[in-house]
Amino acid sequence: MVVSADKKLNKLRYAIEIEIASVARDLGQIAEELRQIAQGVDPKYKVCCPHCLNDNTIKKGKTKNGLQRYYCKDCGVFFTVKTFEKLQKI
Ligand SMILES: [Zn+2]
Repeated sequence: MVVSADKKLNKLRYAIEIEIASVARDLGQIAEELRQIAQGVDPKYKVCCPHCLNDNTIKKGKTKNGLQRYYCKDCGVFFTVKTFEKLQKI
């Protein structure tokens, strides 16, 4: 039996749609974890330092605005999720 090009294309399209759906699910999960970090809820993994990128960080109080503040034991700096936003703009 000869499979037509159309059928092959449909099969491919279907496979791609499944792939996209799974990526979208992952992105949703990542977004949810970032939201939790912003709210100071314990994420599954440790927050990485935006300066040295190590995860040797601890929670250290909150800022005036109520943001969770983190402290990096490696480079000794304090940072919040706002630090990441600032770095992203650079
Ligand atoms: Zn650091």
